[in-house]
Amino acid sequence: RPLVIAVDGPSGSGKSSVSREVARRLGLEYLDTGAMYRAATWSVVESGIDLADAPAVAGHVAGFDLTMATDPSAPGAWVAGHDVNAAIRETRISTIVSKVATNLDVRANMLKRQRDLIAAAAAGPHAGVVAEGRDITTVVAPDADVRILLTASEAARLARRAKELHGTADAASVEATRDQIVRRDSDDSTVSNFEVAADGVLHLDSSALDFEQTVDAVLTAIAR
Ligand code: C5P
Repeated sequence: RPLVIAVDGPSGSGKSSVSREVARRLGLEYLDTGAMYRAATWSVVESGIDLADAPAVAGHVAGFDLTMATDPSAPGAWVAGHDVNAAIRETRISTIVSKVATNLDVRANMLKRQRDLIAAAAAGPHAGVVAEGRDITTVVAPDADVRILLTASEAARLARRAKELHGTADAASVEATRDQIVRRDSDDSTVSNFEVAADGVLHLDSSALDFEQTVDAVLTAIAR
């Protein structure tokens, strides 16, 4: 029977890298739903649509051509055949993605795409899928076999993301990262609850764990 594993968490919690490694070790597919919202945002910007025009944004997202690669060794997003994997990580996208992702019509469209991708992965030649985001345990796949909320203290998340973006977690880098992490989480939390584990969702706090220990904790939870 295929395995569906749902992992949610705030930015900087390590959920992407941990989910990807868990999928790789278990031979599962890996679905990064944050990349889907980022790709949608990239496509909206590319089309020159006014972000403040919610119906126009939703209308565009309803029809844009998105392909997701779910191999954990080479995951990625393509918009109309265009490789957007570098572009969707740029600050210009990170700072506005919440604006697109809090559009409820956009979310309804993404929900359908995500459920289709999870169903396809579960029916495919692999043993299942690890799907990761903000609302996977609660909205997209509430019936997943294993559901985990991966959190970390704000300080730990800021330090990790500062290292990723600036190569160091000194005070200036942490401050430069704060806006991206804290404001984005605060905007995102208006539509998704990824701070408190829902009923039946295992809460894993990785503040005091390194990458390997966090991967092990997730693998242990899955094995139970
Ligand atoms: O995980 P990542 O930081 O790449 O997610 C980018 C953005 O996509 C989030 O800040 C959030 O606005 C949106 N998102 C979402 N629901 C998900 C995954 C991501 O709203 N399941």
